[in-house]
Amino acid sequence: MAKTKKFQTETTQLLQLMIHSLYSNKEVFVRELISNASDALDKLRFRALTNSRLAERSQNLGIKIELDEENSVIKISDNGIGMNEDEIVQNLGTIARSGTSEFLKKLTGDKKKDSNLIGQFGVGFYSAFMVAKKVVVISKSALSKSAQAIHWESSGDEKYILKEVDKETCGTDVIVYLKEENKNFTNSFEIKNLISKYSQYINFPIRIDDAGAEVTLNEEEALWLKPKNSLSDEEYNNFYKFLTADQDDPLVHVHNRVEGNHEYTNLLYIPKHAPFDLWNRESPRGIKLYVQRVFIMDDAEHFLPLYLRFVRGVIDSNDLPLNVSREILQDHPLVGSIKKASTKRILDALQYLKDNAFEEYLDFWNSFGLVLKEGPAEDFENREAIASLMLFATSRNETHEVKETLDDYLQRMPSDQNDIYFCVADTFEAAINSPHLEKMKAENKEVLLLTDRIDEWLMTTLVAYKDKPLVNVAKSFASDSDKPKPSKTQQALLEKIKLHLGDRVSEVLPSSRLKDSACCLVLNQNEPGIQLRKILEAAGQKLGESVPIFEINMTHKLIKKLKDLPKKEFNNFVDFLFDYAVIAEGGSPKNPSKYLRQLDKYLSAKS
Ligand code: ADP
Repeated sequence: MAKTKKFQTETTQLLQLMIHSLYSNKEVFVRELISNASDALDKLRFRALTNSRLAERSQNLGIKIELDEENSVIKISDNGIGMNEDEIVQNLGTIARSGTSEFLKKLTGDKKKDSNLIGQFGVGFYSAFMVAKKVVVISKSALSKSAQAIHWESSGDEKYILKEVDKETCGTDVIVYLKEENKNFTNSFEIKNLISKYSQYINFPIRIDDAGAEVTLNEEEALWLKPKNSLSDEEYNNFYKFLTADQDDPLVHVHNRVEGNHEYTNLLYIPKHAPFDLWNRESPRGIKLYVQRVFIMDDAEHFLPLYLRFVRGVIDSNDLPLNVSREILQDHPLVGSIKKASTKRILDALQYLKDNAFEEYLDFWNSFGLVLKEGPAEDFENREAIASLMLFATSRNETHEVKETLDDYLQRMPSDQNDIYFCVADTFEAAINSPHLEKMKAENKEVLLLTDRIDEWLMTTLVAYKDKPLVNVAKSFASDSDKPKPSKTQQALLEKIKLHLGDRVSEVLPSSRLKDSACCLVLNQNEPGIQLRKILEAAGQKLGESVPIFEINMTHKLIKKLKDLPKKEFNNFVDFLFDYAVIAEGGSPKNPSKYLRQLDKYLSAKS
């Protein structure tokens, strides 16, 4: 007896989208259905490793395509794992993924981009409704003992029909009844083209009946097992596109077969552009794991560190157990050594790109630089290699370009300079005009200008590069002996200022870093700067108010003026100067209108 059921609301929404908005790249439905069939075959082969009853069913695994031009029907069948009734309802009636609404939000209206998203997001099956007036799925689970199969049927409105039917073998038939205008998909020439475009790297034979003879459309040997020198860039790129559903070529590939104690092959890619969910830490990442050519799992995240989460590809190990699970992977010593070697290979490839194709490297940096900056904290061992890949803006270029490396800096550094200087601010303009840079600029000392949220934290973890300490120019001197010593009369003035400011500042000192500005705020050595403060506070740490050092440019004309003021005006003027320094640090005065009133007054006063 047939039952009618309603789709989950989100599924209906998605179906409507498929039918009404995403029809410009209809052909991808072939890729999606074949990829589902291939997954089902992978699952059966994987289960058969530990289930002798299934071993017999896992012979002659493959995908079959039948075309009926007369009736405009295309049927894609596999003899894979199949589905029972509950699974069909679950898989084809609802969208299990929590991120569906995120997906729906991401749709841009740009048809080409959107259909690319479908592939990345894995809502593949429903893409059949871009071309179909009706879709029938007949499936029999390889795990069930019953002889019955399930027939599922929908016309893409809000409901579907279920009934029991007979089916001899386990696996799934997806039968797509094409709308008249999509009849071309029953043309065998067209289908062959699509298979070679999208599905040639499927690891199971895809067969089609061609004028009475069955032909296999794809190559079955896994691409990554072929010798490097037999593969062209185009083949590598096509495989990447197949793997990731990215429409662009990758930036680089790294392909290695490792022999000896452990045998494995890796084929890793660095994409050109960041995927839409790069910043979502929960989103799938990592690579596909195969053991002796058998597909084991997607998103195997233990083979690469988190800061290389943009890397895509395949690892095929000969030595991991076939029944390996995520839990086993976590502690498996072999995984550790593959991770170490793969990390090194990716870092080397990036280094090579930076040294030999800088323009391309710049693209990479713009897409993934921020992720790479997480590296030194996560991967202490490689921190110097990662640091050498970083690009910075520096005070050397008044333009905003981010393209200098730490090695460039070291090369230009005068022999009497021992430290690498950096300045952190919210914007490039704030950094380059920071009072902390005035003397440095006058003395032609180069300063790295850092404006990413993560930068101060990054520098704190790096500490040094090639034995040269990284020094924040907004911080106090590391040793007391470097502190400028005030004269007796200066001392009296400084004490008077400190008396008025009280515990707003920890010290008032004459400055050796200022040239044009009257004063500035300097952080104590162990105090976090504004950016790090924000990160720490966001992470729930309670930090007391910052108590900076107030540094005074003793030769500045405003300071000279200060000396002779009567007490009340002296105090007002000190408040004004303090706010002036707060503003230069990217902060705002506690009482902005008071600050502005004072400014008015000083501007209109006759000097
Ligand atoms: P995805 O494949 O990304 O999970 P789909 O919407 O394409 O998303 O498919 C939903 C689910 O339906 C799959 O995860 C799978 O469990 C099931 N499925 C689809 N096609 C098949 C098939 N040919 N054989 C077995 N299960 C299938």
